[in-house]
Amino acid sequence: MLEDVTTVETDVLVIGSGAAGMYAAIEATRGGARVLLADRSLIGRGGATVMAQMTVAAALGEETPDDWHHHLNDTVAAGRGLCDETLAALLCHDGPDCIREMDAWGVGWARKDGHIAATMAPGHDRPRCVYVDFLNTGPAVSKTLRIAMARNQAIHKAGDLCIVDLVTTDGEVTGAVGWHVGSGAPVAIAAKATVLATGGLTRLFRRNSASANMGGDGYALTLRAGASLIDMEFVQFFPIGHLAPRLVGMDPIMWDPFRYKLGGRLLNGRMEEFTSRYGSDEDGKYVLARDLATYAIVKEVEAGRGSPHGGAYLSFEHCTAAALRAAFGPVIDRLAQNGIDLTKTPVEVAPIAHYHMGGVTADAGMATELPGLFAAGEVVGGANGANRLSGNAITEALVFGRRAGRSAAARAGQIGRQGLRLHDTRAALDLVRAGAPDRDRRNTADMIARLQAIMADQVGPLRTEAKLRRALADIAALSAELGERPFTRCLTSSASGGGKGGGAFDLERLDWFDLRNMLLVARVVAEAALLRAESRGAHQREDFATTLPQWRAHQRVRLAGGNPSISGAPVAEEATAS
Ligand SMILES: Cc1cc2nc3c(=O)[nH]c(=O)nc-3n(C[C@H](O)[C@H](O)[C@H](O)COP(=O)(O)OP(=O)(O)OC[C@H]3O[C@@H](n4cnc5c(N)ncnc54)[C@H](O)[C@@H]3O)c2cc1C
Repeated sequence: MLEDVTTVETDVLVIGSGAAGMYAAIEATRGGARVLLADRSLIGRGGATVMAQMTVAAALGEETPDDWHHHLNDTVAAGRGLCDETLAALLCHDGPDCIREMDAWGVGWARKDGHIAATMAPGHDRPRCVYVDFLNTGPAVSKTLRIAMARNQAIHKAGDLCIVDLVTTDGEVTGAVGWHVGSGAPVAIAAKATVLATGGLTRLFRRNSASANMGGDGYALTLRAGASLIDMEFVQFFPIGHLAPRLVGMDPIMWDPFRYKLGGRLLNGRMEEFTSRYGSDEDGKYVLARDLATYAIVKEVEAGRGSPHGGAYLSFEHCTAAALRAAFGPVIDRLAQNGIDLTKTPVEVAPIAHYHMGGVTADAGMATELPGLFAAGEVVGGANGANRLSGNAITEALVFGRRAGRSAAARAGQIGRQGLRLHDTRAALDLVRAGAPDRDRRNTADMIARLQAIMADQVGPLRTEAKLRRALADIAALSAELGERPFTRCLTSSASGGGKGGGAFDLERLDWFDLRNMLLVARVVAEAALLRAESRGAHQREDFATTLPQWRAHQRVRLAGGNPSISGAPVAEEATAS
């Protein structure tokens, strides 16, 4: 029975409209495909891309001689031995071309003497990071792609459409099932090729730089469809997320551009520089890679030397008011509105969940293990290994998006009409149509907050076996509390005794579907972290403090009987605790 279901047929379905999804959509139409671009939020405004403020890494070599091989060397070094070098090479090789194409589309990269300007960022061996202006790079990228799409008649857009599951037929992905959040209506989409571009998972953690749409849907969709994920234990914590004083209307990771331009001193609660204790002397400059800076701040706080709110101080007191204004003009006024005068007081900063290195297994054509399914952007695992370089994420979204769109169009061109078999959509549609009022009066918002606390406290930057086991037990308890069927606050469902799905903007129901994915993905992150008995990049185990050569291996996760099954851990040699 599909009478109550909105059904759509397209050549290429793109799920997610960040930089990766929008570039994929544009490129797929160049390959002759008709595209449906679906997003659970407003098109082009729902994920990380529109929030990104700083820089985009690409070896343009316009100001300083550069070559993509240098960029690759830095990417691989930052990845601590775990980069998928095919994907990393694709990112670095194709990056300049995408940056120039965005330039031609009018993104407005900042220029010096007629050349696209590039700035230095930690981990890069030379100035390589382009930008639009401070705090505005991601919005400009997003707007440029939205405008490029607006002129494109072959792209149909569907906002507020939350995809709940992929549909597979005989091991191939043939489309997806979702629901329209604005009306509650079930939707089934038949597609000859599907591109997953759903972004990352940092909403799983209490302190995060994420939007509400970044709970890791794409990873859960991939697992349930039968494909694998790699490197799920590697969550990047941005070391200097804003902590205090209260800052309204500004991004928590805004201190990065300040540090690029002005250096800035990281100080502990006793006003001492401390990074040299952890192997790097910053000396007022900005040279410490993200994983090491995160480690240094967390350790300093644990040693009782943190700032009052549990982080470190970041001081620009060495800068004059004129230097600050010259570098950041209107931002200084916005800080003043928040009562912050950087010439007089330092701010407090602390690590914040920011990016995910792991994700969907994909090849150089962005094809996943399932025919018909491609992946692009942050949802893809492997390119950045165990730690990502500044600026690589937007490049990855552009490059992988373009490649995925091309591959998806090629596949769509090769196969005939793609319909959906009723049998293959049944389970997902049953779930989307289900919904009884919650007799237990569960508070889904509180459940999400509890999950975020578990992940931050037990699966955060510094991990131990005991913490990870506790996290897994707590996640299991929350999963049992959530149950197998969505509940709703809608009176219509109540009147009919349930079974009619939700109504318009039923946010409790949206929380249920979010928790379904978040709990699965949280479990996968914690299980992979528990198995990796070493410390490497963003994964730091206090009970296994060293990096071990036998662990230079990817862990691969897939579902077996509904439970995560992880392979790839070294079996030949026993890892030893230190
Ligand atoms: C605050 C912030 C600042 C950053 N700054 C930088 C920077 O300066 N430089 C840099 O290189 N990187 C930066 N990053 C990282 C970078 O922005 C991201 O990695 C990149 O933009 C990801 O692009 P994407 O297209 O893969 O995903 P996103 O832009 O996150 O888009 C994913 C989209 O998928 C949609 N979606 C998710 N689930 C579903 C579903 N079930 N159904 C339908 N739609 C769905 C979401 O609504 C969203 O619109 C920053 C990230 C953040 C959060």
